[in-house]
Amino acid sequence: MSKMIQASTLNALMLGNFDRTISVKEFLRQGDVGLGTYTGLDGEAIFEDGVAYRATAEGNVTVMKPEDGVAFGTVAHFDEHVPQQHLTDIASVEMLKQKLEPYIQDNKNVFYILKGHAEFDAMHVRSCFACEKPYPTLSEAASQQREFHYAKVRGDLVAVYCPAYVNGINMPGWHFHFLSGDRTKGGHILGLSTSSLAFKLNRLDAYEIILPQNQEFARLNLCEDLSAKTAAVEGGAHR
Ligand SMILES: [Zn+2]
Repeated sequence: MSKMIQASTLNALMLGNFDRTISVKEFLRQGDVGLGTYTGLDGEAIFEDGVAYRATAEGNVTVMKPEDGVAFGTVAHFDEHVPQQHLTDIASVEMLKQKLEPYIQDNKNVFYILKGHAEFDAMHVRSCFACEKPYPTLSEAASQQREFHYAKVRGDLVAVYCPAYVNGINMPGWHFHFLSGDRTKGGHILGLSTSSLAFKLNRLDAYEIILPQNQEFARLNLCEDLSAKTAAVEGGAHR
């Protein structure tokens, strides 16, 4: 059965628990495609074909080393042997979500992971700077984020869909990251447009969470409803 493997919980990240949950090497053993962030909130993670890319707040992309750490993320072993699908005339992230709806509406209580490829007319991404301890909250860190606007850029989408009931543990709905074809640009997607997107979608019927083993995590109150703050940080709704 295809499984979503997650490192840490979203509320732990929201509350500033940016410590290493798992090494890059161990996380990539759990899955070859996914997204997340690294120790210290050091850039946006894009996992593709078993490689851990880091889109930095300086606006470039580096490849992480096996001994580097993942603070929060989700990966899966992607099954490439599924039909390639196409969507056309996508003018925004909201429109992309609407156009993906028919592919998931039969069961929105499971997880999905998507790999896409397109020539994007516009791509709007953000990345966060690495933080030092004592760590700020994610909202505070994201207030220092850098945003980048690219035009006519070819590249990949990696997206994760989580069901609504994981609120606080992960982000309900779609979460999109971008990596350019030449591996020089990327980040957490705030906006996009493309005339044609090719993609493959995997449904994941199992879910496993690797919990942080640090003392800060042990002491966090993870029951607070941070969904409004999460939507502001991850969706860019505060702009
Ligand atoms: Zn993200």
